[in-house]
Amino acid sequence: MIPYGRQDIRQEDVDAVVEVLRSDFLTQGPVVPRFEQAVAGYVGARHAVAVNSATSALHIACLALDLSEGDWLWTSPITFVASANCGLYCGAKVDFVDIDPQTYNLCPEALAAKLKKAEEEGRLPKVLVAVHLCGQPCDMAAIHGLSRRYGFRVIEDASHAIGGKYCGEPIGNGRYSAITVFSFHPVKIITTGEGGMAVTNDDELAERMSLLRSHGITRDPQCMTHEPDGPWYYEQVDLGFNYRMTEMQAALGVSQIERLDAYVARRNELAERYDRLLADLPVTTPWQHPDSYSGRHLYVIRLQIDAIARSHRAVFESLREHGIGVNLHYIPVHLQPWYRQMGFRLGDFPDAERYYAEAISLPLFPLMTEGQQDSVVSALEEALGG
Ligand SMILES: *Cc1c(COP(=O)(O)O)cnc(C)c1O
Repeated sequence: MIPYGRQDIRQEDVDAVVEVLRSDFLTQGPVVPRFEQAVAGYVGARHAVAVNSATSALHIACLALDLSEGDWLWTSPITFVASANCGLYCGAKVDFVDIDPQTYNLCPEALAAKLKKAEEEGRLPKVLVAVHLCGQPCDMAAIHGLSRRYGFRVIEDASHAIGGKYCGEPIGNGRYSAITVFSFHPVKIITTGEGGMAVTNDDELAERMSLLRSHGITRDPQCMTHEPDGPWYYEQVDLGFNYRMTEMQAALGVSQIERLDAYVARRNELAERYDRLLADLPVTTPWQHPDSYSGRHLYVIRLQIDAIARSHRAVFESLREHGIGVNLHYIPVHLQPWYRQMGFRLGDFPDAERYYAEAISLPLFPLMTEGQQDSVVSALEEALGG
């Protein structure tokens, strides 16, 4: 089976992790801050807070922005459930903005229209989670403009997008958002096993997120409400969690980020090769906005259903039968049972639903060979009935 994504672990990664295992610290040692500095430096953000997953990063990002009961969080329906669940964790309500049929990211025109209506109804969102689907950045200039006009805060869910650029600048530099979140799950662009990070330029948000990552406990006398009783003293000043990253994970991250540029370059090369190989098939290849340099976490094609004699499901199944580990990113979040029970139904976000009826993620990962890619293309040709 050719998987849709796969990590690249080399001897230097193994050595870096083993070195930590033999050191004094397995958690809360010197390597986590080193990884934080490496990511902050790479993306051009002032602060980085490493955590055990992007899901945790989204949760503490929402809390740092004071999202709570009675508030609204908006995001795209075409994303992993975590981009929406973080709102529910905070007791907020969640709503969605339909996608742009060309980029599959949250559509800025749909957002503008929905905001106008929400303002009239007095239910404007407090937080918008902008998901850079497949690694292609959202229209951040437009989203930023709307956030200033309507007073909501923006979290970039860049789980797919580390190493990418928007208008020539690294995703995560915070020019258009309060906080950006990255995932280091093994299928993502670089990995720490499980792991995530939140980056920001705001001192207070960074401080709040680092507190929340570790039980809301501080050892900094300046953050305490009482005089220390003695050198053992610490204070819990907020209700936090144990969302810490281990030293082993951070060591893997420090080693992986060395190859980030090469990974993204290779992903782009393979994606462009797919574009050429698929040009004459009845599929739509992923359109790239000229402002975008995508991390290319996923290569999603859409079947031109009217030009094909077989169903989406039949094409998908045929690919799997041929050993091609295709996937579908994503089932629209509003159609998940957990969200349907809140009142969402089929028909609410037609562009997202149409995308779901046509999309297939083809295998794409840095170590993929051109031979493997050719096998994917021939299996697809056959699956399409051609
Ligand atoms: C993978 C992913 C997440 C969650 O990442 P974890 O590190 O697995 O918690 C969140 N949002 C998107 C868009 C993702 O793809």
